[in-house]
Amino acid sequence: MSDDVYQDARARVERIAKEAEVAPEVIDALMQPKAVLTADIPVRMDDGSTEHFVAYRCRYNDALGPTKGGIRFHPGVSLEEVKALALWMTIKCAVVGIPYGGGKGGVIVDPKQLSRLELERLSRGYMRAMADFVGPDTDIPAPDVYTNARIMGWMADEYETIHRRKSPAVITGKPIPHGGSLGRDEATGRGAFIVIQEYAQRRDIDPKETTVAVQGLGNAGYHVARLLQKEGYKIVAVSDSKGGIHSEDGFDVESLYQHKQDTRKLEGVYCEGSVCEMIESKSISNEELLELDVDLLIPAALEGVINEGNAKNIRAKVIAEVANGPIEGNADQILLDAGVEVLPDVLTNAGGVTVSYFEWVQNRQGYPWSLEKVRERLEDELSTAFADMWKIYEEKNVPLRAAAYTSALERIGEAIELQGTQAWFSDGK
Ligand code: NAD
Repeated sequence: MSDDVYQDARARVERIAKEAEVAPEVIDALMQPKAVLTADIPVRMDDGSTEHFVAYRCRYNDALGPTKGGIRFHPGVSLEEVKALALWMTIKCAVVGIPYGGGKGGVIVDPKQLSRLELERLSRGYMRAMADFVGPDTDIPAPDVYTNARIMGWMADEYETIHRRKSPAVITGKPIPHGGSLGRDEATGRGAFIVIQEYAQRRDIDPKETTVAVQGLGNAGYHVARLLQKEGYKIVAVSDSKGGIHSEDGFDVESLYQHKQDTRKLEGVYCEGSVCEMIESKSISNEELLELDVDLLIPAALEGVINEGNAKNIRAKVIAEVANGPIEGNADQILLDAGVEVLPDVLTNAGGVTVSYFEWVQNRQGYPWSLEKVRERLEDELSTAFADMWKIYEEKNVPLRAAAYTSALERIGEAIELQGTQAWFSDGK
């Protein structure tokens, strides 16, 4: 991953905004975050010692509503990364037209090294540090890499303890009994599936003739792979942080995932009930997975995995960015020249924030929705956002990423311009 992930994110916004002739005030407003909080979280470890963890929260831009974005627990977290992710959230919320700005948070930690009690203390410590910075009307966190529903539940509980009232809308992605939404766990993967299907229809792609490689079989990667396989796509390669496996015959995603949950190992298996049989597959590295000759490549782990160094080796025809920022800015042109079409992250993985928005709405209404309603509305939101992007793509003849950004920048731009621009004030009337 590039050290300049934030500079890269800003440069991409600036370039696309200038091409789309967005007002200078709008570009200026998006070139720095509104507010950033850095905190030290002291955590009592199980052996009685105290360890200190660095934590961040960034509210990037709130022109369209309170800021919204996940919290990442990962050793590679940095302030630059958090700001980049918060900027992408700003664009993403606007792409799907939900009334939010963008935010993000993170802690520099390897959560796999913590006991369950240490993880709870860290999660509650994060919320104690951020309790005045977040809130249902200001900034609403959610899960991201290596954080999950249980962690969101602890954080919501800590916020409610501090503020001495129930306030489930402060955070989304909670367990269902704590005010979580049905369908939130699968939302990012389902959203990506909807986007891929919208694309496949427009490009006449037959799922049964389409091979897929998925990097990162986590929450987002698992659900998109599972839904694609159900539709007939052949999932020929998957990976996790330790490496990947490849089989020309394709994998049964459900079997792989259940086996990984039980054994913590990613292995080629086919399971019926609790009985699993090994199937032939080849071990590959995460780098090799990206360069496989497949029809559809789905990076669903971390950012910056496709960059100037390996972009020319990509053989997939289409990349669906399920991770945030898996393709660095300097690889965009290389892929474009090679005819690789990219379904951009700001739309492809927007299912998560869309159902987070539904969760927030349900919490505020005190009225939970059925799973059918969540899925139906998710499909509506994402197919509309896809159609908006496609219209710009056809009218302006720009890559899909530029089309999605343009759609978002027009929405953010309108909100900022309605407060008055230099052109408007100096018009003199
Ligand atoms: P997760 O923690 O559930 O899964 C991450 C997966 O990536 C795991 O399988 C892990 O083993 C794998 N991984 C970690 N490091 C890796 C590496 N170096 N190489 C290959 N694989 C590696 O996380 P998630 O929630 O599925 O998030 C994955 C991506 O999707 C992130 O970029 C995240 O920002 C993005 N995303 C997630 C959501 C969501 O709702 N969960 C929403 C939008 C975007």
